This record gives sequence, structure tokens and C-alpha cells, in this order.
Amino acid sequence: MKKEFRDLLKSKGRSELPAVLLAAAECAPLAKTGGLADVVGTLPKSLQALGFDARVIIPYHRCIKNKYADRVEHLFYFYVQLGWRREYAGIEKLELDGVTIYLVDNEHYFGDRIYWGGEGEIEQYAFFSRAVMDALPNLDFAPEVIHCNDWHTAMLPMLGKTQYPGCMQERLKYILTIHNIAFQGKLSYAFAKDLLGIEDKYLTDDYMALGGCANFMKGGCVFADRINTVSPSYAREIMTDYYGEGLESILKTRADDVSGIINGIDKDFFNPRKDPRIPAHYDRGHRKGKAACKAALQEQMGLHVDPEVPIFAMVTRMTEQKGFDLVACVLDDLMGREEMQFMLLGSGEERFENFMRAAEYRYKGRVCSYIGYNENLANLIYAGSDFYLMPSRFEPCGLSQMIAMRYGTVPIVRETGGLRDTVMPFNRYTGEGTGFCFANYDAWEMRDAMRAALSCYKNKEVMDSLIQNDMKADFGFEHSAEEYARLYLCTF
Ligand code: ADP
Repeated sequence: MKKEFRDLLKSKGRSELPAVLLAAAECAPLAKTGGLADVVGTLPKSLQALGFDARVIIPYHRCIKNKYADRVEHLFYFYVQLGWRREYAGIEKLELDGVTIYLVDNEHYFGDRIYWGGEGEIEQYAFFSRAVMDALPNLDFAPEVIHCNDWHTAMLPMLGKTQYPGCMQERLKYILTIHNIAFQGKLSYAFAKDLLGIEDKYLTDDYMALGGCANFMKGGCVFADRINTVSPSYAREIMTDYYGEGLESILKTRADDVSGIINGIDKDFFNPRKDPRIPAHYDRGHRKGKAACKAALQEQMGLHVDPEVPIFAMVTRMTEQKGFDLVACVLDDLMGREEMQFMLLGSGEERFENFMRAAEYRYKGRVCSYIGYNENLANLIYAGSDFYLMPSRFEPCGLSQMIAMRYGTVPIVRETGGLRDTVMPFNRYTGEGTGFCFANYDAWEMRDAMRAALSCYKNKEVMDSLIQNDMKADFGFEHSAEEYARLYLCTF
């Protein structure tokens, strides 16, 4: 064990690291829709390397059952009382890469999509929350810290501290990580009472009410022992009106308990030296393979194969969060003036998908898109592009910019949240920095940052030092895990 942790434990009168249970809706590689799954999948492994017993509990989604059913061990089952509903809850156990994952089985709630949307999704995760709380005393593992993630599991602290008097659930420490504050789990008071038996006194602004609704995330912010989010900048931002989505007041009240820990990436999975998903391999010193990846990408996506023309790329959910409206605003201007190619992999709002289809038609061989989800193509894009564009309106952490840098693809980002914390503006005179940044959510500022990137691209030496800086940056998860370890120990 690290000396720092031993000393911290000693100062708390403890000798052992606390056991940690991460509760979440998704966990890579079992079930993934976004960055949350990557964190929940990677953090326990890195915590184990630090000496923690860290395990995970997630729903036994259909997609997991389809793939892993023969490796899962049934532990026990019970019935969950969810208002008038009496629902089966099976607790299954799966060992994956040395990490124990508990799976909550219920064919009705988890037999279809990971997220149902709307009121159904509230019921799905109210069930999951109650099942986790009721299962805790019977697991073959006694956690002392419950690490909750986003609104889907944000109710665990409140349930533990208000509905299990004298029980082990009441004595646990709860940490809430906010991965995206825009999603909060809002429901009517009546539904909150019905599903989880919430007492009237808690359906007030002092507790889990916000704007006339019950709010799972607010319940978590009030009752969790510590609140953290996925970058220091986002931790500061969510305490402001602009980013707080209504939760800024409670977060400001609890400012001493709010912190930010930047996520890391799986350096083994995202590794240009040995990534099996790309046609040629390379590293910082020998980048010939990157040129081969670029040619393969251009060919596969129907772009003119030309090593000299820079490719700007995005791999993204096409929502307002990710700044696609800025791209839509200036793409014609850029394509009209500059020699460049633009490529997008993603799906989301129809208006943005249609914009891309039309742009592809207007600029055949220079613009292309793949509307959908494709992890192999994503890695080829990270490897084969020159610039990676991420003009987010808000970005709690963002993993894509870190992945891009690992593959020597230079990020162009808006200075917000985790983008501000991971991409340092490039200074061509000192040679310091890792990307191009712009401050305001403004299409023309973004265009200027892209043009600054284009001007660097013309100078091979400058471009080379920039790529070197990117590939040198270390975004491994070990750093995040150490910060989480400190956070866990601080709660005692
Ligand atoms: P968020 O979690 O907000 O969507 P992040 O940048 O934190 O954004 O993480 C997104 C992850 O999902 C990255 O690993 C990215 O490569 C991947 N991803 C996003 N869209 C797609 C897609 N259409 N196909 C393949 N991978 C995708």
C-alpha cells in the first residue's frame, strides 16, 4: 500500500482500506452507451492495483445476459416492494478481468433497452436502487463505501440514511459522482411516494424537491457524504447558474464537499502501437503507420485519398451538448475557403444527421459521415485524422479528446469543463501546449481556432512538435484512481 494511504488511514484510526461498491446503470465492456461505462469499467481495476477491494453492481441488462449468461453465478433472490408492485430481484455474480460484478436480474425492467426514457426509466432505476439497498446485507462482501454514479443511483444515500434506521445501510459512506448534471431523474411527488415511499417532509426544497418535482439527483446532492464530478473545471462550473441546471444552490451550500476528478482512458485498449482495429501501428517516434491509417480512412469513407489534405473529425453523440450547431453554422464557409476534409461518426438529433447527409452530397470526396455507432471505425478515425473537433457547449470530462491525443490527433476544443483541464492551448513560439482552444460558444471563434490549426498544419516542424506533445500526455486511469482513493479515505 502507498505510504500516503497508510498515513491517511492512520490519521483516521484505521488500518485497512475500505471496501468499495460502485453502483451504476452501465459498465464497460458489459453494457455501454457512453463515458460513464468506461469509468465504471476501468476504475475498479485501478483501485485494486492500489490495494482496494472494489466491486461493481449494475442491472443484469439483456445485452449482458445474451453474452455472458453461461459465466454468471446465481447468488440469491428476493422480492422488492416498489409501492404496490412486488418484483423479483435476482443477484448474480460475474468475474471479469479480476473484478467482481454483481448483476441485479429482473426480466421486466432489464429485459430490453438499458434506458427506457421518460417515466419508465424512473421506475426502472427506482427498482434498481431499492434492489441494491435490500441486497447489501446479504452480499458475500461487506462494502463500507457506496460509490453512486449519476441520477440512476443517486437515491442510494437518501434511502440509506432515511429508510434503514439502525441497519448497516444507514452506517455506510456514500459518494455521488456527477457525470452529467443535465440528466437528473425528475418525477412527480406522487410517483416518488408511490415508488420509493418517500415521506412528505423530504418532498420539499430542503431535501429532494426542485422546481415542483421530486429530483433523484438533488436527493443525492443533499444526502451523499461527498459529491464529486469528473473534472475540476466542471466542479466549479456546476456551482454557477449557467451550468448548474438548477442544482447550483445546493451544490454551493455543499461546496466544501464538492470536488472534481478527471477521468482517464484505458491506455491498453486505446493504444496505437497494438490496436487491432487499425490497419497499421505506430508510436511517437515512428509515425509512418499513422499516414497509412489516414489513407485507409480516406479510402474507406469515400474521401479523396491525399496525404497533404488535413482531416478534421468528430466521433460524437449529435446533440446540442456537443456543439454540432456551431459546425453546421460554419462548415460551408470553411469548405468554401480552405483545403480540408471533414468527417463525422455519430448519431442523434435528426436535424443534425440530415445536415451531415446534405453536406456530404454538396462536398463529395471532402465531407463524409457515418450515421450510427461503430467502435472499429471510431478507432480508425482517431488514428487516421489530423485534427479532432470538440466544440462542446458543456463537457463534464470528455474522453474523446484524450483518445485523440493518444493517437497523435490534435484536439480543437471549447474551453469548458474537462476540455479546459485536458487540452492546453498550443503556443507555436514556445512549442508548448497540446491543442487549439476557444473560449466562447461561438461558431466564428471555433472557425478561427480551426484556421489557426490549418496554418500550423502547413508547417511540418511546428505540427510535429504539437503531435509529440499530444502523444506524450499521459491520461492513464491510475491518476484518477489515486484521487478516488483519497476521496474515499476522506469520507471517514
Ligand atoms: P459522452 O460520454 O458525453 O458521450 P465522451 O467523450 O466522454 O462523451 O465519451 C464518448 C465515448 O463514446 C468515446 O469513447 C467515443 O469514442 C465513443 N463514441 C461516441 N459516439 C460514438 C459512435 N457513434 N461510434 C463509436 N463510438 C462512439
